[in-house]
Amino acid sequence: MGGKCCICGEVIDGSHKLDPCYIEIVTNAWDDDADRLQQSSVGHYDCIKKVIKLTRYLIPKGEG
Ligand SMILES: [Zn+2]
Repeated sequence: MGGKCCICGEVIDGSHKLDPCYIEIVTNAWDDDADRLQQSSVGHYDCIKKVIKLTRYLIPKGEG
């Protein structure tokens, strides 16, 4: 698999069944006419979960 987590910097080895998570950041998202900046990256599910409040759709049953 490979690639490094954008949160912790460690290699993503696929040990978690939901790894890797792909995330995309878009600046000025509400303004159609704005120059947009975009960046995408991957990270560990557990790391992203620590910094972003996930919705119930992204949390497996049984996990909190
Ligand atoms: Zn990580």
